[in-house]
Amino acid sequence: SIHVGGNAAHAPYHNKGFLTTPIRQIKSSDENSLGLISNFAVYCVNGEYPPNDSYENLLEWVKEYLPIDYYLILKSTKLLSPLLPYRRAFDDRKHVELLGRKWPRNYVLVGDSMCVFNPKNGQGMTHACRQAQQLNEVFKEKYQLKDISFIYNRRAASISEECWLGSTTNDWAVPTLKVINTDIYGKTNTYQRSEDSSSIYPQPKTPLFMQFLQWYTYWLIKCAAQSGELTTAFIHVVFQEKSPYSLLQPKFFFKILYASLSHNFNLSKFFD
Ligand SMILES: Cc1cc2nc3c(=O)[nH]c(=O)nc-3n(C[C@H](O)[C@H](O)[C@H](O)COP(=O)(O)OP(=O)(O)OC[C@H]3O[C@@H](n4cnc5c(N)ncnc54)[C@H](O)[C@@H]3O)c2cc1C
Repeated sequence: SIHVGGNAAHAPYHNKGFLTTPIRQIKSSDENSLGLISNFAVYCVNGEYPPNDSYENLLEWVKEYLPIDYYLILKSTKLLSPLLPYRRAFDDRKHVELLGRKWPRNYVLVGDSMCVFNPKNGQGMTHACRQAQQLNEVFKEKYQLKDISFIYNRRAASISEECWLGSTTNDWAVPTLKVINTDIYGKTNTYQRSEDSSSIYPQPKTPLFMQFLQWYTYWLIKCAAQSGELTTAFIHVVFQEKSPYSLLQPKFFFKILYASLSHNFNLSKFFD
C-alpha cells in the first residue's frame, strides 16, 4: 500500500512514528475538507506505546512526541471509526527452504503463514500477493505435483528474504529486542537485550551483515534527502518493485560511503 505522509520511527533513538494512507476520495460539501478517506497509524517500536483509551489522550501524546504537523493533521480530521489498538508487533520467519525435499509434498505456506513482518513497514500484503503470484507461475510451468512445494519454497523464500531484510534491519537496533531462534533440530534459544544484568536471557549479538545494513540505511536515508535518484530507488524497494540489493549498486554505495566518511573524518573540507 502507498503511504502518503509520515514520520518513520527509527530505533534506537526515534521510536515513535506516524503514517497516513489515503483510501479513497469522497464528495464533501465542507470547503475545508480535503475530500479524502484515509487511514492513520500512530506507531512505535521498543514498546513505547501511544495511549489507546481515547482519541483525546492519543492527540496529547502525538503533540508531545511527534512533529507538530502530525498533531495538526489528526486534530483537523473527522473520525469515522474507533481507535484500533495493536500491540503485538514482531517478525517471525519459517525458513521452509532449509528443509529442501524433506518438506511435505502437496503442502505450501503463503504470506503470513510463512513470514510475518513488523507491521510498521507495511510489507505483508504485497509479500503475500507476490508469493501467490509465484505459486501461480510454478503451476503454469507444469512441474510434477511432487516437485511443486520444493520449487515454490525456494522461490517464495527469496521473496521473504527481501522483505525480511527491510523489516529486521532496524528492528535489530531496538533497545529491548528479544530474539527466539529455533534451529533445524527444533532446539530453541532465547536472547534479550537489556541493561539489567540479572536478566535470565543472554544478550543477542547483532549479526555483522545487519550492522552493515544499519550503517548503510542510516546514511542512505540521509543522502536520499538530497538525491532524487536515490529517493526514487529507495521508494521502489519499499514498494517491493525492486530488490533491496539494487540499493547496493556501486554508484549508490560510493555516494553513501563518501557521505559517511566525510562526516566521520570531516573530509568535506578537502573535497568540496
Ligand atoms: C496492525 C497491522 C497493520 C498492517 N498494515 C499493513 C499495511 O499497511 N500494508 C501491508 O502490506 N501489510 C500490513 N499488515 C500486514 C498484513 O495485514 C498481512 O501481512 C496480510 O494480511 C497477510 O495476509 P495472509 O493472507 O497471509 O494472512 P491473513 O490476512 O492473516 O489471513 C489469514 C486468514 O485465515 C483465517 N484463519 C486462521 N486460522 C484459520 C483456521 N484454522 N481456519 C480457517 N481460517 C483461518 C484468519 O481468520 C484470516 O482471515 C499489517 C498487519 C497488522 C497486524
